[in-house]
Amino acid sequence: MAVKANQHIALISVHGDPAVEIGKEEAGGQNVYVRQVGEALAQQGWQVDMFTRKANAEDPTVVEHAPNCRTIRLVAGPESFVPRQEIFEYLPTFVEALIQFQQQAGIEYKLVHTNYWLSAWVGMELKKQQGVKQVHVYHSLGAVKYKSIATIPTIATTRLGVEKAVLETAERIVATSPQEQDHIRTLVSQKGTIQIIPCGTDIHRFGSIQKQEARSALGIAPEKKVVLYVGRFDSRKGIETLVRAVARSQSRENTNLSLIIAGGSRPGQSDGIERDRIEAIVDELGLREITHFPGRIGDELLPQYYAAADICVVPSHYEPFGLVAIEAMASRTPVIASDVGGLQFSVKAEETGLLCPPQDDAAFAEAIDRILSNPTWGDRLAEASRQRVENLFSWDGVATQLGELYQQLLTETLIEPHLEKAIA
Ligand code: UDP
Repeated sequence: MAVKANQHIALISVHGDPAVEIGKEEAGGQNVYVRQVGEALAQQGWQVDMFTRKANAEDPTVVEHAPNCRTIRLVAGPESFVPRQEIFEYLPTFVEALIQFQQQAGIEYKLVHTNYWLSAWVGMELKKQQGVKQVHVYHSLGAVKYKSIATIPTIATTRLGVEKAVLETAERIVATSPQEQDHIRTLVSQKGTIQIIPCGTDIHRFGSIQKQEARSALGIAPEKKVVLYVGRFDSRKGIETLVRAVARSQSRENTNLSLIIAGGSRPGQSDGIERDRIEAIVDELGLREITHFPGRIGDELLPQYYAAADICVVPSHYEPFGLVAIEAMASRTPVIASDVGGLQFSVKAEETGLLCPPQDDAAFAEAIDRILSNPTWGDRLAEASRQRVENLFSWDGVATQLGELYQQLLTETLIEPHLEKAIA
């Protein structure tokens, strides 16, 4: 029995508000993923409600993004920013508010798609109370994260427990890369059903502008060799490695280098503190004159920055997927990335870009030099990058695969009682 797409589904993203400005502390790939998936699914006929925790009293409760796609902010805990490791205690209130919303709106979600472990817990509660089907995306795995940090937070045990429970109880876990699937299997549990559906990007927005046009719009001279970083200021993003690599490259007489480090920050907050640390390293290495910090780049300018760059570097210590890599590739800019996680899936070494051991600034410097010294090869990598994204990582393609998965799971719901009858 076919299920029509025009059903109500809920995307749950407790700490990643799909309606906020991207590029600041804690607002990154997850927010983009939920918003883009939501809009693409709505275009395919689903009625999409995206639920998040209200983290600012002035924010509207409901934001309509497109026909049949809205963000709904539920009050659970203080109406102000709460770091994600402190949100768990407010989740029971979040669940109550979500159930109340359904009752008032006369909507019943048969399927919820949850994002990050906090939302996984919400989904599991809804399954207990309402019998919903659950699809889950981790976005980040505690089991991987806690291997690389010195102080394990007190919430770790709870998080690891939830990440195991959701794997074993959700109808489907969506891994965004084969590498993430391997980590889930080796570090979390052998039980549960995993399906790989990657993250996507807007292949019409990224790639719509030529390099020289983008450079003149941004005031970047044609002879500059532009190395670009886009992302949050977080020490695990490895910006320090990039800065040290550029210093090495420059010391080898690589002239006309220009380093752009784009991303938002707020003085005194963790991203502001990381930006100060990076600026101090830039000064110490004598790179001030060639380094630019344009701050957070909004949606309109981002395609221009990617197109203007000769190379985009993603030096993260770990990355379950890494949207920035495919955004750059869609914009025909080769990527040099850490040889970790989902970056091993998006970047094909020697075909679309290069992979280097994380935190190895000598290897990153060599990779930068190899591409910058051979522009013809750079152009070939750029074209192959674009092709790879068109083939594998468009939001429309991703949403189609997710929609098919939802339909399959919802159909199983309808078939089960019938089968039971036949068996009886
Ligand atoms: N981003 C942005 N403006 C900025 C910096 C980042 O729009 O100034 C966006 C970027 O385009 C990407 C997202 O933030 O879509 C970062 O996602 P990614 O998966 O690379 O990293 P995460 O933030 O999830 O760790």
